[in-house]
Amino acid sequence: MAGDSGLTSPWGASRREGDVADRRAELAANAEAVRSRIAAACTAAGRPADSVRVVAITKTWPASDVRLLAGLGFRDVGENRDQEARPKAAQCADLELTWHFVGQLQRNKAASVVSYAHVVQSVDRARLIAALDRAAEQAGRRVGVCIQVDLDPEAGGEADPHLGRGGARADQVLALADLVVTTQNLDLLGVMAVAPLGVDPRGPFDRLAAIHRSLLALHPTALMRSAGMSADLEAAVLAGATHLRLGSALLGHREPLK
Ligand SMILES: *Cc1c(COP(=O)(O)O)cnc(C)c1O
Repeated sequence: MAGDSGLTSPWGASRREGDVADRRAELAANAEAVRSRIAAACTAAGRPADSVRVVAITKTWPASDVRLLAGLGFRDVGENRDQEARPKAAQCADLELTWHFVGQLQRNKAASVVSYAHVVQSVDRARLIAALDRAAEQAGRRVGVCIQVDLDPEAGGEADPHLGRGGARADQVLALADLVVTTQNLDLLGVMAVAPLGVDPRGPFDRLAAIHRSLLALHPTALMRSAGMSADLEAAVLAGATHLRLGSALLGHREPLK
């Protein structure tokens, strides 16, 4: 079976080797729970249920899980580390999924990321834009980008060890967006943010909404607003997120990164 290779992938270490059918049933149940949470949140927000797209964040989970999720209708996949994402995307190439890169990105990884990612959500500085543009040019591909916004620039508090920090200050977003639209090979899709840990996410998500509105006034096609993870998807839907990045709610709890 095509999924077998994924079971022995180093990224599957956190999962017992088990019956693929068991895992499929587990993921199907998680998917159903996630879809009903989203439907309820959309109803509460007065939004159509199909106005929110899920990006399944598959970091630490094997390619076989990506394959099972694809079978359950999840066509957008997100990863945050290039060395993990690249082989996983290669193992799933036949599925023709849309791959999102959502992690902090060094310029020297731009060429590698561009070889499989259709969207880089975590663009937060000018030199990275230049590196991605060059890499996309060399690969002969177009790459969609979101400007990642740091919603907690002052706090200087704990960064989530899984997420790292990252993100542009609010007052840098428009200049970075202008830079993206001057490139030949990048498409400006919108904005992305992670709510700070340990605070009510509604305030930060409302700030992101305001930043996104000011971006849309200048770049009306940059409609994507990627906000909301497993714990705060309801608040994100209420604040107008178009994309949710869901890991643990779909796949289960990750082992801590070493
Ligand atoms: C891991 C990750 C997520 C998903 O987090 P969950 O809490 O597991 O849903 C979302 N966004 C980014 C940037 C991530 O790194």
